[in-house]
Amino acid sequence: MKSKRKKFWSGNNRFRLMLTLELAVMLPAAILIYVNFKYLKSFEHNKVLEATIQRDFQYMLAISEKRINEKIYTMTEEVRNLFPSPESETELDKERKLDLILSKRPWLAHVFLYDSKKGFLFRSQPQQLGDKSFCEERERLAGMYQGWFGMQARMLLDDMQQKNPPITCYSEHARRAGGYVYMMSALFSLPQLSRDREVLGGAVYDFNYLKQTFFPEMLEELVTHKLNGEGGKQLAMMIYSGKYEGELKDRLLAASAGWGDGRPEVSHSFADVFRGLALGIKFQGTSVEALSRHMARQNFLILGVLSLLLIGGLIMAYRSVSKEVELARLKSDFVSNVSHELRTPLALIRLYAETLELGRIKTQEKKEEYYGIIRKESERLTALINNILDFSRIEAGRKEYDFRETDIAELVRNTLDAYRYQIEQQGFTFEQSIDSDLPAVRVDREAIERALLNLLNNALKYSSDEKFLGINLYRANSVLKLEVVDHGIGIARREQAKIFEKFYRTGDPLVHNTKGSGLGLSLVRHITHAHGGEVEVESTPGKGSKFTMSLPLAAAAG
Ligand code: ADP
Repeated sequence: MKSKRKKFWSGNNRFRLMLTLELAVMLPAAILIYVNFKYLKSFEHNKVLEATIQRDFQYMLAISEKRINEKIYTMTEEVRNLFPSPESETELDKERKLDLILSKRPWLAHVFLYDSKKGFLFRSQPQQLGDKSFCEERERLAGMYQGWFGMQARMLLDDMQQKNPPITCYSEHARRAGGYVYMMSALFSLPQLSRDREVLGGAVYDFNYLKQTFFPEMLEELVTHKLNGEGGKQLAMMIYSGKYEGELKDRLLAASAGWGDGRPEVSHSFADVFRGLALGIKFQGTSVEALSRHMARQNFLILGVLSLLLIGGLIMAYRSVSKEVELARLKSDFVSNVSHELRTPLALIRLYAETLELGRIKTQEKKEEYYGIIRKESERLTALINNILDFSRIEAGRKEYDFRETDIAELVRNTLDAYRYQIEQQGFTFEQSIDSDLPAVRVDREAIERALLNLLNNALKYSSDEKFLGINLYRANSVLKLEVVDHGIGIARREQAKIFEKFYRTGDPLVHNTKGSGLGLSLVRHITHAHGGEVEVESTPGKGSKFTMSLPLAAAAG
């Protein structure tokens, strides 16, 4: 009744522990993993990341435009400062000054000076005047600006007055036979002139210079020095005509290295100097979408690995908790088994001793039988107590072995002789095969004897129908083998490794009806290990078992 109650409680505890583990740890962990996966699955690519990158790109492009504009303004201001003064100089001097500006600055196609009082001077790069289309362009531009300034110089000047530096850029964008032509003129007012004077200067930038030198250099500078991409990714930028429809590659004016042939992730139209053109930006060799997909995949992977770790940890925790619970159960079984085992022989010894004391037993034969029983029971008691003491020494790490040169054959033979009577009395067929020419080995006699006795006792205890006991001692190469064979109940394969653990007893009903502490085999294992050896079991349920202690000759002898 008591033990049943105990079992019920320990079972209940175990159940409660497992329930806690499942409800408090497993369930939240599973939900956490599930929710995270769902959340990640809900967007295949990382939209937040994409939006962030795009915002960064917009910002970079705005800054880039500003830098390009600043550069043009600086260059134009330089030119403006070199312009002849409309008041003091003669027309010839002015022309010469303008030509000088052109000769020092091959990146200008034309420069011009409009003066409402003194007329319009329009000078062009002399070495290009041989080009027919250049001359046509020059005629057109000269006519256009003269006409325009004639009508609107005042308004243009008023506009410029608002700005610092007083420069307005005007661009023309045309499709020509050879592709697109982009004309950018910077118009400016001249310093130190009275309000009523209408004078305007201007410079037309050379298209080839813009396309082949200015834009590529600017882009390269912007990409390499000024801007850093997301996660160290290299950026690429390009400038293209934003005015016309058509294939991007036909509209491309300039691109930084590594642009490849993709589309820009983000575009930005120039709003001041280079009206009609646009800036494009992207990552070199990848797209934002690919990048964000990659990030999403990476997140998945990280989550996967974390989940696996979590699950692994939980399984380990679950296992160690079950192991602890199992050990606690085994320990409580052990206590009840041992107390039972101690009580039985003591009761028997007392009973027989009292009977003898009373002097009621008359025949010598009977008396001897009783003495025999008392001796046998006290031996059993001693064996059990020795086991428990040894076990507690081992557990406390205090077990010491006394290795001595030993004739092991003799040791085994003597031990068996002491038990032969008992073995045969229990109805066992007993076979022993001990090689006689075995070398002397260094072992702890008492320990080896105890191991052999434990194996021998098990063979006796766990045999039911066929009572057979075989002991073999022989040498196999450099190993000494001691085998204990029985034809008893055997051990199921899945339990064969566990029986060497402390307190473990198999679930066989015969084992439950047999007294035992579950310590014997754990001692045998400890003893063999201490001798540098191994203990193994071969067993078939219902057929019998064979326990083999292998002791290395060299190590044991050393
Ligand atoms: P016990 O005191 O229970 O015999 P042991 O450590 O010696 O403890 O053995 C552990 C368990 O291994 C036993 O309870 C039994 O289930 C099993 N066992 C040991 N030897 C044998 C054997 N020769 N035949 C069948 N089962 C065995």
